[in-house]
Amino acid sequence: MPGMNKQASLSEIASCLAGYDPQALHVALAQDFIAKLLPSPQIQEKVALRESLGRVLAADIISTLQVPAADNSAMDGYALRACDLSATTETFLQIAGTSLAGSAPSSLVQPGHCQRIMTGALMPAGLDTVVPQEFIRLEGETVIIPPGLLRTGDNRRLAGEDLALGQVALSAGRILKPADLGLLASLGLAEVPVWRKLRVAILSSGDELRSVGEPLPAGCVYDSNRYTMWAMLQRLGVEILDLGIIRDDKAALREAFGRAAREADAVISSGGVSVGEADHTKGVMAELGEVLFWKIAMRPGRPMAIGRIRNADHQAILFGLPGNPVAVMVTFYAFVREALLAMSGASPAPLPMLRAASLQPLRKKPGRTEYQRGIVSRGVNGQWQVEITGNQGSGILSSMSQANGLVVLGHEQGNVEAGELIDVLPFDGLI
Ligand code: AMP
Ligand code: MG
Repeated sequence: MPGMNKQASLSEIASCLAGYDPQALHVALAQDFIAKLLPSPQIQEKVALRESLGRVLAADIISTLQVPAADNSAMDGYALRACDLSATTETFLQIAGTSLAGSAPSSLVQPGHCQRIMTGALMPAGLDTVVPQEFIRLEGETVIIPPGLLRTGDNRRLAGEDLALGQVALSAGRILKPADLGLLASLGLAEVPVWRKLRVAILSSGDELRSVGEPLPAGCVYDSNRYTMWAMLQRLGVEILDLGIIRDDKAALREAFGRAAREADAVISSGGVSVGEADHTKGVMAELGEVLFWKIAMRPGRPMAIGRIRNADHQAILFGLPGNPVAVMVTFYAFVREALLAMSGASPAPLPMLRAASLQPLRKKPGRTEYQRGIVSRGVNGQWQVEITGNQGSGILSSMSQANGLVVLGHEQGNVEAGELIDVLPFDGLI
């Protein structure tokens, strides 16, 4: 893999981070660590404009046109010279002709004359201002304009006022939105350079797991994590390689992680990373590459594995998430989402946080970051308020389903009193 020998080893990355403690890792340090681990995207492709929605722009788009191309009217009305207008009495102007949108530039309009003009039509040479038709009186071919109505340049769109020639219209790293597709179309671009979609492999590990549609023997649970992970990844617009449920068996795990390293840019597993488990996940991960096993100072989601796994000259970033269904989602949002966006070449703006008044007192120990599930609403005073959804156990997926945001209680934060303002990360835009 190109550039692989330039990569810093995991211990080199750790040594650059002051306060790094893999047994009680601060969330922010874990995020910094992961950011240093990630490769940049390498492969660009060109896609048709309509295929580019949600894709990551791979190069700056420089405007090769002025948009609009020439001065034109913003209203249906009459184009005139502002210097012909009287400030104190009505102005009388003769209509010289008509300019329609899309028609060729008109010939010079003489002083004392105006031109009937439609929205989008080119401003006739010599004229600088448009009076909307609803403000004038018409007598035969004469337009009568009341005084004090207009300033020079009113209702005229200037060439290049939307996009100037040579201007960066859209920057590389942007995740293309509906308005961007329109902007690219206004520059006449039919194809867009984007980064290749990231390939992400997912798997669930655990002997107790069964797939939907199968019978459920005593002591087993249905594998829900692959569905939440699939859905979260779908929202990120990556390609998903679903490796299914992998038994706690060395050969099966080796085969699955080996395939992921060969075929994917990243692999996300759930389960099998907590202390004292009887499975083989850790051993296999360590065999295939460089992997660290962290205990993160957070709740839910304490254990997590992170690293690189290799197969021949391919490698994938590995995110070994805990098995509990809420912990999977929370660790995904805390660490994986941004990492995958960065690997995709995207540089998105930070997610907006709300400050909302807690509707109840909350118990919180300083020294770890907590992500509680909350329902945000508007109070009678118009302020945001948030209520915690029932049982906050890391296996209670219904708490996540009922919530519309994550209450984020920072590392240093202690107990919260009712009415205190706290941070909430709304799910809209996130999931
Ligand atoms: P582990 O991290 O493997 O110790 O799993 C912690 C808890 O999460 C256990 O109760 C598992 O049964 C549960 N769990 C693990 N993987 C999944 C999964 N894919 N879907 C639903 N529950 C899971
Ligand atoms: Mg397990």
